[in-house]
Amino acid sequence: MLKSVVCRSLLLAFLPALLALTGCKPRAKSGAEAPVAPPTPTPAPTPVPTPTPTPVPSNSVVSVLGYHRFENPPSDGLAISTREFEAQMQRLKDAGITVISMDDFLAWRRGAKAIPARCAVITIDDGYVSGYTEAWPVLKKFGYPFTMFVYTNYISAGGKSIKWEQLAEMVAAGVDIGSHTVSHASLTRKGTKSDGEFETWLWNELRGSKDILEQRLNTKVRTLAFPYGISNELVKQTGLKAGYEALFTVNGIKTQANSPGPDSIGRYIVDSTLPKVFEMAANFGGGAAAPVSAAAASANPAAAVMVTQPMEGETVKDARPLIKANLASLGKIDPKTVEMQLSGFGTVPATYDPATQIIQFQPTQKLRERACTVTVTATAGGKKVATRWNFYVEPE
Ligand SMILES: [Zn+2]
Repeated sequence: MLKSVVCRSLLLAFLPALLALTGCKPRAKSGAEAPVAPPTPTPAPTPVPTPTPTPVPSNSVVSVLGYHRFENPPSDGLAISTREFEAQMQRLKDAGITVISMDDFLAWRRGAKAIPARCAVITIDDGYVSGYTEAWPVLKKFGYPFTMFVYTNYISAGGKSIKWEQLAEMVAAGVDIGSHTVSHASLTRKGTKSDGEFETWLWNELRGSKDILEQRLNTKVRTLAFPYGISNELVKQTGLKAGYEALFTVNGIKTQANSPGPDSIGRYIVDSTLPKVFEMAANFGGGAAAPVSAAAASANPAAAVMVTQPMEGETVKDARPLIKANLASLGKIDPKTVEMQLSGFGTVPATYDPATQIIQFQPTQKLRERACTVTVTATAGGKKVATRWNFYVEPE
């Protein structure tokens, strides 16, 4: 939608120039008959139309960050110490990255608002109380807006969960609330449900959670984050039908004007044991940001000739399988541009060997979901190339 708005305004801006150009042609011809005639100074007879102002700059890039728990010390990769979190927030500031609100992000996506060239959106998943006790004070200190993606079954469930009253306090202070479904189950797992039962269940996970949050917190819930980042066409369509303006994945790609969506907005899931993920999220490149997102979105399924491990469609028993691909079929790729994204993990610190053209990565944590999608993006001959494949994990 934004793209067409920008295209039209560009065309409008060029139109007067085009008309002026064609209008000049006959005059140029008559001028050729008397080449020595002194140029008559025309007192501005030609009305030069003022170019239509471009409403929204289209070159902004947004990195959406996803956090989970804040612990001292962190018990696993999805937890981060308060001190490290604060250091990351400082890094964004020092790098000149503007943290924008979900409101502004959505307005920009609609083409209704301009945002700075390099932006970040901060999101916190699941609804752990540490988002309230640890992260919020830090975010307040920096004046950063953020979104809490909560799943309703977990709110006020005891243990490490956040309470309804705490969420209400956050809403009153301007914190944005997004849905992370009702139960946090994978939205593509049908199990033994019939088609009808599954549709009813899915609708409740998506729309039911939105209704509960809106009623209990008296706020508008406009976004949803897929549990584990997992979705399919049915899930995405149902999500949009349920009234969400944007649906978030965990695929570690940045968003720009021409990015796909709104049913699959990229996010980087920050992992305290994989510092490279934050590095990549905060890296906007030298000049114009590399449009990795567009390439990843149009990623073609791995070609039959491409050797991957596990293979496309294969079921493996190891929940931490070595993931490998020979990228020779992608052409002459620039080694510095190679990135691997894993569903449920986002961008992962894979290693690429230009000599063998093999990229590989061994997860440090067990893959949590049965279905895993691997996406590899790179630049080859100045063009973005991408490929993806799926495999399944069934531990014994
Ligand atoms: Zn989650």
